[in-house]
Amino acid sequence: MKIDLHTHTFYSDGHLSPAELVMRAHQMQVDVLAITDHDTTQALAEARAYQATQKRPLQIISGIELTTRWHGFDIHILGLNFDDQHPSLASHLALQEQTRIDRAQQMCDKLAKAGIEGVFEEAMKRVGQGQITRAHIAQVLLDRGAVSSFQSAFTRYIGKDKRAYVNAKWIDIATAVEWIHAAGGVAAIAHPGSYDMKSKWLRKLLVEFSACGGDGMEVTHPNMQATKKALLAKLAVEYNLKAVVGSDFH
Ligand code: AMP
Ligand code: MN
Ligand code: MN
Ligand code: MN
Repeated sequence: MKIDLHTHTFYSDGHLSPAELVMRAHQMQVDVLAITDHDTTQALAEARAYQATQKRPLQIISGIELTTRWHGFDIHILGLNFDDQHPSLASHLALQEQTRIDRAQQMCDKLAKAGIEGVFEEAMKRVGQGQITRAHIAQVLLDRGAVSSFQSAFTRYIGKDKRAYVNAKWIDIATAVEWIHAAGGVAAIAHPGSYDMKSKWLRKLLVEFSACGGDGMEVTHPNMQATKKALLAKLAVEYNLKAVVGSDFH
């Protein structure tokens, strides 16, 4: 069985519509798919509606990638297989949406001070009905010719602690786990190998996440070396966390 529990659509920083993503999942022979957009579940209904028109079976489970703040790191928490209609969820996610908008505005204010003006308005146009992310801002900077590559938008301006970076008021990890559990889902740390933290900090993260009742962690990520994957799998066993697999497809 082919399982992908980490994907994005254009409702956050993915390039495909929900229907296009489902189409792609069929092409790739995926059997179980979770769409885990940043802080939104908007894609789910469209993905399910499209799947209902398809002959090939595909199990679509609800998903989300919640942004949290932990000791100066933005830690992403995957929520999987929850009731996306749970009454408390919409108001919780409205909070995250406001944090996203406020942070984007503040980052763009910093960019304006660096001489790059009007990025917020342009980025919001591209966002449409979805959630604004740093990827949208990076794309505007690239299209403007303000940076020479998508990557360098992060290394020069909006990456952690760079010139236009903003420490946003994200929820903490315990709150993310609480929201996911309240809606009946499973909470997992997304890409624990991608936070640029020392192994001592990673272990501290896993200890605290487990203490909050967290359920799992991702043990793979695109282009990850086999030795690193093996290390993450070992940590999952050590901390009694379920192993989660996904592509983080954008
Ligand atoms: P945000 O959730 O708004 O902070 O945006 C995070 C998203 O931006 C990630 O999910 C990636 O898709 C993208 N991103 C973050 N850091 C980088 C980076 N250094 N290079 C390329 N993309 C990045
Ligand atoms: Mn992303
Ligand atoms: Mn992520
Ligand atoms: Mn992701």
